[in-house]
Amino acid sequence: MSFKIKKAAVIGSGVMGSGIAAHLANAGIETLLLDIVPSELNPEETKSGLTLESPQVRNRMSLTALKNLAKQKPAPLMAKSRVAFIQAGNLEDDLEKLSDCDWIIEVVVERLDVKQQLFEKVDAVRKPGTIISSNTSGISIEAMASGRSDDFKTHFLGTHFFNPPRYLKLLEVIPTEDTKEEVVQYIKDFGENILGKGVVLAKDTPNFIANRIGTYGLLVTVQEMLKGGYSVGEVDSITGPLIGRPKSATFRTLDVVGLDTFIHVANNVYDKVDGKEKEVFNIPAFMKIMQQNGWLGSKSGQGFFLKK
Ligand code: NAD
Repeated sequence: MSFKIKKAAVIGSGVMGSGIAAHLANAGIETLLLDIVPSELNPEETKSGLTLESPQVRNRMSLTALKNLAKQKPAPLMAKSRVAFIQAGNLEDDLEKLSDCDWIIEVVVERLDVKQQLFEKVDAVRKPGTIISSNTSGISIEAMASGRSDDFKTHFLGTHFFNPPRYLKLLEVIPTEDTKEEVVQYIKDFGENILGKGVVLAKDTPNFIANRIGTYGLLVTVQEMLKGGYSVGEVDSITGPLIGRPKSATFRTLDVVGLDTFIHVANNVYDKVDGKEKEVFNIPAFMKIMQQNGWLGSKSGQGFFLKK
């Protein structure tokens, strides 16, 4: 079977979903961007007389993401001229539209149960032969496909983009034993030639390659900081621009990633390691307090460096 991706769907319009949709649009691919339907009106919606049935409210998540994409500073994730390539919608009203898509990418919260429930819905409406992938940072790809049809399993794999997708070249591609070789090869070629990515094939092991090393390195850095009594600013100076790595400072990276997402990703490994390594993956108390307070980084407006 030969594949052709003319239209894609991205499900989840948060930090990564919106960035991936923007990257697809930049490459000229028509993209449907879906998210959940809000259960409450926000104050502006109430003031404007909108109801929970208004399309602006039902599509609020993806519409807000779309509005923010073209104006992101200093580096916009999408060219303004590409905004029209993305159609904003929601998972209740637009689910059937997935049957038109050649590639469906799941980019929702890092929880196996949420992803499995979503894939059950997707499997019911997708056309046979559609490629489906997950942007998970490290949950088992095989576990996500459990219970799905054979056609789903043979066309399913991990496609792990890095943040921000427009600017970071790495794309981890993670097949399972069931994924057809043609699907892996097609996505690898598509990633390299159409999306401009450097593709690394990874095994379906917890957190794959980049986050297995990355979360470990970051948490060891935090432990050393706490032991040595260094400040967040000192650590970022030493791990960032001053040593020629302008984009890799430890805590600025966490602000971009989102602390809740980082904690979910570190937890992917916690249950699977023992001894000293388990101690590393035990999230420090101050990070848990920040998460409880909603100080998640750029997406909540407050993090290590950002203040509301
Ligand atoms: P996010 O919190 O910014 O966005 C998650 C989105 O999922 C939200 O818009 C939310 O409304 C939506 N959502 C939640 N429950 C849902 C449901 N039941 N059905 C549909 N949508 C639902 O998270 P993110 O940072 O964009 O992460 C998304 C995925 O990408 C995760 O699997 C994460 O591990 C992975 N990832 C994140 C980064 C990063 O730097 N943040 C990098 C690579 C991969």
